[in-house]
Amino acid sequence: MGRVKVGVMGAGQLGQMLAMAGRSVGCDFRFLSPDEHAPAGRMAELIVADYENEEALSHFVEGLDVATYEFESIPASAVRFVAEKVPVFPPPQALETAQDRALEKACFERLRIPTAPFAVVESMRDVRGALERIGTPALLKTRRLGYDGKGQAVIRTRDEIAGAWVKLAGAPSIVESWVKFSRELSLIAVRSRTGETAFYPLVENHHSEGILRFSLAPAPAVPPGVQAVAEDYAARLLDELEYVGVMAIELFETPEGLVANEMAPRVHNTGHWTIEGADTSQFENHLRAICGEPLGSTEMSGAAGMVNVIGTEPNVQRLREVDNVHVHMYGKAPAPRRKLGHITVTSDDLDGVRRSVGELRHALAR
Ligand code: AMP
Repeated sequence: MGRVKVGVMGAGQLGQMLAMAGRSVGCDFRFLSPDEHAPAGRMAELIVADYENEEALSHFVEGLDVATYEFESIPASAVRFVAEKVPVFPPPQALETAQDRALEKACFERLRIPTAPFAVVESMRDVRGALERIGTPALLKTRRLGYDGKGQAVIRTRDEIAGAWVKLAGAPSIVESWVKFSRELSLIAVRSRTGETAFYPLVENHHSEGILRFSLAPAPAVPPGVQAVAEDYAARLLDELEYVGVMAIELFETPEGLVANEMAPRVHNTGHWTIEGADTSQFENHLRAICGEPLGSTEMSGAAGMVNVIGTEPNVQRLREVDNVHVHMYGKAPAPRRKLGHITVTSDDLDGVRRSVGELRHALAR
C-alpha cells in the first residue's frame, strides 16, 4: 500500500514514539497540540492550536487518511468534529467512556468485568450514603481529568469525608471501595479495523506517589489461566466499544482474581517495553490497526523491564553502562513529577531484568 497520512491529536512522547514506529509502517504524520514545544513537533508537522479551535481542526484534517489521539483529555467534542471528516480510531465513544470514570465503571459492570464496587456522587450527602453501602476505606475519585493519582482522595474513616470532598473541590465524582491488591498489572491489547485482536503478556507495574516508576514484562509468576482471563476481559471491551487501536487495561491482582481499575484508549506507558522487548511494538501495532493492516506478532522472547525517568535530567552515560539498556529521552524540560524519558532493559530472564532495573533505579536516584 502507499503511504498513509495519519493525524495525531496530542504531540507528547507517545506521539513521538508513534512517529518513530511509523517509519517502518509507511505512515506520514501531522500533529495537533496547543504546546508549541511538544516533543512530537520535532518528528513531523505540528499545528499549534487549542483542540477546540475549529478552524485549526479543519486545517488539521486536510488530506488525512486517518486520525488518532495520544492524549486522553482531549475534548471529546473535538474528536467528534474530526470524526465527521476522517475516520478516527479509537472511536470517539471509547474516548468518552474512558474520560468519565462513572461511564467506564458502568461499562465494566455491564460486561461483567470485576471492578471495585462504586457509586456516583454529587454531594457530601451522596458520599455518606455511598459509604453506608461500600464501607471504608474507600477512594473518592473525580469522574473526569484524573490521572497519575490526581483527583483522588482516600477516605479511611467517615471523619475524612468532608476533607476528601473539599480536596476534590466538590467535583462530580465516584466513590469506590479500597481494593486490597497484591500487585498492579496491565494488559496491552490491540484490535484492528477488521476485528483481529492481539494481546501482549501481562505486565507488572510499580507506582509511587501515583506515578508509574517501573514495569516488568512478562509479569512474574502469573498463575495459570490469569493471562487468558485478562485477555477475555479485554476482548469484551474491545468488541463492546467497536474498538480499533491499542488499549491498555489496568488491573489489580487480588486473591479473588483480577479486578479492573481503568482503561486507557491509547498507547500506554506500561507498554513502552514492547519497542525492544516484543516482536512488534505497541506503537507499530496501533498504526497497523488504525491503517487496516494485519497486526504484528505480540510475542516476546526473554524478559524486559522499563524504568521511567521522572523529574530530573539523568546522567545518561551512567545509565548506558547497564547491560542491554535502551535509553529514550523525550527532550522535555525537567519539572517535578514530569516524565522525561524511559529506559528499557532486555534480558534472557526476569532475574536479569530485575538486576538491571535495580541498577537503573539506583543510578537515577543519585
Ligand atoms: P487511577 O488513577 O485510578 O489509576 O489510580 C491511581 C492509583 O491509585 C492506582 O494505580 C492504585 O495504586 C491506586 N488505586 C486506585 N484505585 C484504587 C482502589 N480502588 N483501591 C486501592 N488502590 C487504588
